[in-house]
Amino acid sequence: MEDLSWEQIPVTSLRGVGKMRESAYARLHIRTVGELLTHYPRAYENRGAVCLLSQSVQDGKCAVVLTIATEPRVSMIRHGKKRMTLLKFRAFDESASCEVTYFNQDYLNAIFLPGTVFRFYGKVEKTGGHYSMNAPAYENVSTEGVEALPALVPVYRLTPGLSQKQIAEHVRAALRLYAASPVQDPLPGELRAKRGLCVLSYALQQIHCPQTAESLTTAKRRLIYDEFFLFSLGLATSRRRVREQSAPICKDGDVRPLLERLPYELTGAQRTAIEEIRADMCREIPMRRMVIGDVGCGKTVVAAAAMLFAVQSGRQSILMAPTEILARQHAAELGRWFDSLGFRSELLIGATPAAQKRAIVAALEDPDPATRLPIVIGTQALLSDGVRFFAPGLIVTDEQHRFGVEQRALLSGKGQKAHVLVMSATPIPRSLALGLYGDLDISYISEMPPGRQCVETYVVDESYRDRLCAFIAAQVRDGGQVYVVCPAISADKEKEPEEEEIPMSAFSVRGNAGTSFPECPKARKKTELLSAIEHTQTLKERLPGVSVDCLHGKMKPSEKDAVMRRFLAGDVQVLVSTTVIEVGVNVPNACLMIIENAERFGLSQLHQLRGRVGRGRRKSYCVLVKGEAAEGETARRRLEIMRREHDGFAIAKQDLILRGPGDFLRGQEENGIRQSGGVKFRLADQCDDELLMQTAMADAKELLCGDADLSHHAELRRRMEGLFSVDPDVLN
Ligand code: ADP
Ligand code: MG
Repeated sequence: MEDLSWEQIPVTSLRGVGKMRESAYARLHIRTVGELLTHYPRAYENRGAVCLLSQSVQDGKCAVVLTIATEPRVSMIRHGKKRMTLLKFRAFDESASCEVTYFNQDYLNAIFLPGTVFRFYGKVEKTGGHYSMNAPAYENVSTEGVEALPALVPVYRLTPGLSQKQIAEHVRAALRLYAASPVQDPLPGELRAKRGLCVLSYALQQIHCPQTAESLTTAKRRLIYDEFFLFSLGLATSRRRVREQSAPICKDGDVRPLLERLPYELTGAQRTAIEEIRADMCREIPMRRMVIGDVGCGKTVVAAAAMLFAVQSGRQSILMAPTEILARQHAAELGRWFDSLGFRSELLIGATPAAQKRAIVAALEDPDPATRLPIVIGTQALLSDGVRFFAPGLIVTDEQHRFGVEQRALLSGKGQKAHVLVMSATPIPRSLALGLYGDLDISYISEMPPGRQCVETYVVDESYRDRLCAFIAAQVRDGGQVYVVCPAISADKEKEPEEEEIPMSAFSVRGNAGTSFPECPKARKKTELLSAIEHTQTLKERLPGVSVDCLHGKMKPSEKDAVMRRFLAGDVQVLVSTTVIEVGVNVPNACLMIIENAERFGLSQLHQLRGRVGRGRRKSYCVLVKGEAAEGETARRRLEIMRREHDGFAIAKQDLILRGPGDFLRGQEENGIRQSGGVKFRLADQCDDELLMQTAMADAKELLCGDADLSHHAELRRRMEGLFSVDPDVLN
C-alpha cells in the first residue's frame, strides 16, 4: 500500500465497494481510485432552482424544499406475486402540501422525522388538486439552509449494480483520499500561473461537486488543458522515437511510368504531395506522413505513386482500407495500373477463400524477389496473425480517420521500420491538424481536379416531404440512384437524454462564458429522429416499383457488403442508411443525397456525405431535411453554410468557429471506432475553445524542448502514457 500512489489504490479499498460493486465498476473500466475520479459526470441536475409546489411544472422534474408534516407510515401491498412495502408521509411548503411515497425503503422512517426539512428532487404530480411525489431524490437541509446544498448534482454513466447516489458517495470518498495524500500537481506551477489554470485537486473536486457553474467551468478548462497537453506530449514522444529508427531507403522511385498511364494531368497539389512522399522515402528515417484532402481530390493516385516507389525499390507495398467495399474498389483500380506496370497485386479481405488466403500469405513472405508478392490491398484482415511481409517498404491506410491509433500501431508493427502513409478525407483546418496529428508530417491537397461539378444543395423542412418523394421518383426514373441518410438505426434504440439534465457539454469553456448556468434543455421539444429501418419501410410503400434497401452499422459486415454491392451494381435504386456509407464509396451513378435530421450532423460529416454524389456525369443534388425541432440558431447557421459552401476546408473552418475543436475528436460512435483512436479523451472532445487547445499543445512542445524524454517530469510522463490506451512506444 505504501508504494501505491493514491491513484492506483483499488476501488475496493473505498468503504462500500465489495466484490459485487468491484465487478460493476470493472464494467465501467474503473479499477482504481484514480480511474474513478476520471469517471466525470456526463451531466448535472439543476437542483438549485427550487420552486414552490404550486409552481411545479408538470411532466418535468423539479426541486422543492419541504418540511415533513407527518410520521412516515409503512404499509404492505402485493404487487403481482411480490410483496412490497410502501412508506408514506406528508410534507409541505408555503404553497401547498404533498404526499411523498417510497417503495421498499422502510429504513427511511428514521430519516424523515416530522419537522425536519428536505430538498426533494423529482416529478411532482398533481391529481385533483392534490400533490404527490414518488421516490424523489432527497437531501437533508441543515441549519445552514438550502443554499448550503449544491445547486448542481452530478449525473454519472451507470451500470447495473451501481446507483447515482452510490457512485457519488464513492467519488466523494476518493476525493477525500486524494485531498489527504501528499501529491503534487503534475503540471508545473509556472505553467498553471501563466495560463490561469486551477490546481488539479480543485479541478477534480469541482468537476464532481461543483459549487457554482463558474467553478465547474474553471475545473473543466483545467482538465481539458491537461488532456490536450498530455496528448501532445504523447504524439511528440512517438514522433521522436520514430526518428531514432531506420527504414528501407526507396530511392529508385520514378513516377513517370504511372503518369503515362493516367487519362489526366495531375493537379499541382497532387504533384507536390507525391514529391514530398518521394523525398521522405529516399531517407533512412521512417516516413510518417498524412495526406489530407477533400473527397474527390484524387488521393488514390497519390497513394499509388507512393506504392510504386516502394516496389520499384524492391520492397513491398501494403494498402489497408476500412471496409471491404473500399478495398475491392482500390484493388480493382490500382490492380489495373500496377498490372500494366508489371507488378502483381492481390486483394486480401475477410471474404477471401481460405486456400487463396494461404497462397497470398505465403507469397507475401516469400524470400525470393522473383516470386514474392509485391503488393497487397485489403482490410483489417491484413492485421490478423499469420500475415507477415518479407520486405515491407510502405504501408498505406486509406481514410485513416476510421482507424484508431491502435490499429495503425498494429499495422506498423507488422512492417517493422516500414514507411507509413495515411490518407484522410476529413479536411480539418491546418491549425487543428498540426495538433491532432503531431506525430505525422502533413501534405495538403487543397485543390480539386478541374471540371468538378458542384452539388446543388437545398435546405428543406417536413412540409417538403411529398415533393421530396416525387423528386426521388423522378431521379430514379431517369436512371439515377439515391442515398437517404438517417441519424438513427431504429426508433426504439434512440434514447433521448433526460430533459432536466444539463449535459456536461453545455458548459462552455470559451472565455468567461461560465458565470451563469447554461440553459437546461428542458425547453427543447422532443425530437423525432427518423430511423433508417422505419424510413426504408415508408419509402418502400411510397415508391412502389422502386427498389429500396437499407444499410446500417448493426448489420454484419457481409450483409453490409452485399447491400452495397447491389447498390453499386444498380440493383438497388434507393439506399437508406445510417452514416456507414460516409467513407469513400464511389458510385458515380448516384445523383441525389438526402440527409434526414441534417441538424444532427456535424458540418464535416455533412460534407463527407454530400461527397458521395456528384462523382459522375449526372447533375447531382443534396437535400438537407431539417427535423421538426431544429429551430436552434446554430443548427440553422450550419445548414446555411452547407448550402453556400462547397469547399471542405472552408466548411471545416466554419465548423471549428461554430462548435470548437472538440467536435473533430468525436468519433463515429456507430462504427465503434473513435476518430482519435487509442486515446481516451474524457472531456477534450467537448472543448469549444480552440485557443485552449492551441495553448496546451504549444506549452507541451515548449516543455519538451527543455526535457525531451520527460525525465524531469516523471509524473507527467506516467500520465501521458495513461492517456494512450497503447504505449506510445508501440505507435512506432
Ligand atoms: P479521393 O481523394 O476522394 O480518394 P479519388 O482518388 O477517388 O479521390 O479520385 C476521385 C476521382 O477523381 C477519380 O475518378 C479519379 O480518377 C479522378 N481524378 C484524380 N485526380 C485527377 C486529376 N488530376 N484530374 C482529373 N481527374 C482526377
Ligand atoms: Mg479515397
